[in-house]
Amino acid sequence: MGGSGGVVVSETSQLDALRDRTRTFGRDTAPELEGLAEADAAQAALRALAGAGLAAWTVPARDGGADAGNLCGADTVSVRALSCLRDELAYHSGMLDVMLVMQGLGSFAVARGGSDALRADVLPGVASGEAIAAFALTEPGAGSSLADVETFAAKRDGAWVLNGQKTFISNAGIARFYTVLARTSGEKGDAQGLSMFFVPADVWGIDVEPFEVIAPHPIGDVRFVDCELPDAFLLGEEGGGMELALATLSRFRTSVAAAANGFARRALDESLAHLSQRKQFGKPLIKNQALRFDLAEMDARLRAAQLLVDEAALLVDTEQPSTLAVARAKLIATETAGWICDRAVQHLGGLGVKRGHIVERLYRDVRALRIYEGTSEIQKLIIANELTR
Ligand SMILES: Cc1cc2nc3c(=O)[nH]c(=O)nc-3n(C[C@H](O)[C@H](O)[C@H](O)COP(=O)(O)OP(=O)(O)OC[C@H]3O[C@@H](n4cnc5c(N)ncnc54)[C@H](O)[C@@H]3O)c2cc1C
Repeated sequence: MGGSGGVVVSETSQLDALRDRTRTFGRDTAPELEGLAEADAAQAALRALAGAGLAAWTVPARDGGADAGNLCGADTVSVRALSCLRDELAYHSGMLDVMLVMQGLGSFAVARGGSDALRADVLPGVASGEAIAAFALTEPGAGSSLADVETFAAKRDGAWVLNGQKTFISNAGIARFYTVLARTSGEKGDAQGLSMFFVPADVWGIDVEPFEVIAPHPIGDVRFVDCELPDAFLLGEEGGGMELALATLSRFRTSVAAAANGFARRALDESLAHLSQRKQFGKPLIKNQALRFDLAEMDARLRAAQLLVDEAALLVDTEQPSTLAVARAKLIATETAGWICDRAVQHLGGLGVKRGHIVERLYRDVRALRIYEGTSEIQKLIIANELTR
């Protein structure tokens, strides 16, 4: 960011302070979550994040969120702050990371498209951790291709009536509300016929079926049967749902890359520590050039991924064209983190796959990041489209 040196210095010191605070918080809080059942761990994680004032970073300042100072406007959330938070949280705990970001992902459409009254009603509770948020786009027949969403909202007697099924919804079952992408007109495949809704979890007609994924992560199917919603729960314009969904994804996607970097950084630290102390053939493993080369490559690739995140986050925060940078960051950081965590498993030998070892956990934690918020293949499509535009 150009301009006066003063602005840059104050932004950097704000982010440095946030990073330090989050690092201490993550180190102290992660052990408290170990051994808890998944839903309990999720709720305890969010309570702790909110208690430390960190969940507030997922909500715009004007709606009761953290004061982002010069980082971004008061009506949005700072991607640099989110990225710094997620990198530090993921280093210590996948659960802390996911519970932080879901508050933002699930509520951003309310911040963007909700009425003044709805924002005032919902968003302070998101910042304080009282209201757990969820973001419901994916359906059994609509994953990468969101235009295929078939969940339908029809206007009946002045209210919207919602029917359909969502799947892979993080926080399903523990959420206080869902922001839901639903069709209000047109056929499957028509993105202009989609609208976004605020759906309280206690509305009549919602059924949730949790399931498990590879790493701790509250998630499940959500079914809507004749759920009645007042007009005020339509977010933004009718037909503007895809735009709101994409605005949310483009703001939060960079932070997925940052979380990947946090997991990868931890894996590299664990490799380094293990190879330094473990002796085989009469000498520490780290004396083997093959393993030293591995460490060097892990470090260099991680640094490249970190720089891509820094670039993308700055572009989004400063409202410059960012599509290409965000897709590059998501693609490279998540793929790199998968590779780094895999190398760390190899360096740990049998311990790397022993259930409960930190490196075994990182290997599982990092996998879904190549899939959600746009798979690696979708990021490649975006990059190629930008290059050939
Ligand atoms: C842990 C986890 C949490 C999630 N949380 C949420 C959530 O909170 N809310 C939500 O709405 N969704 C959530 N999702 C769903 C996630 O966004 C989808 O899984 C993702 O968008 C991919 O959709 P899909 O699983 O249907 O795969 P598909 O779209 O069926 O893709 C399958 C494979 O085909 C590839 N592919 C698809 N299209 C193309 C193409 N045109 N060219 C090349 N390759 C292609 C994909 O990259 C992928 O490798 C979550 C998923 C996971 C794993």
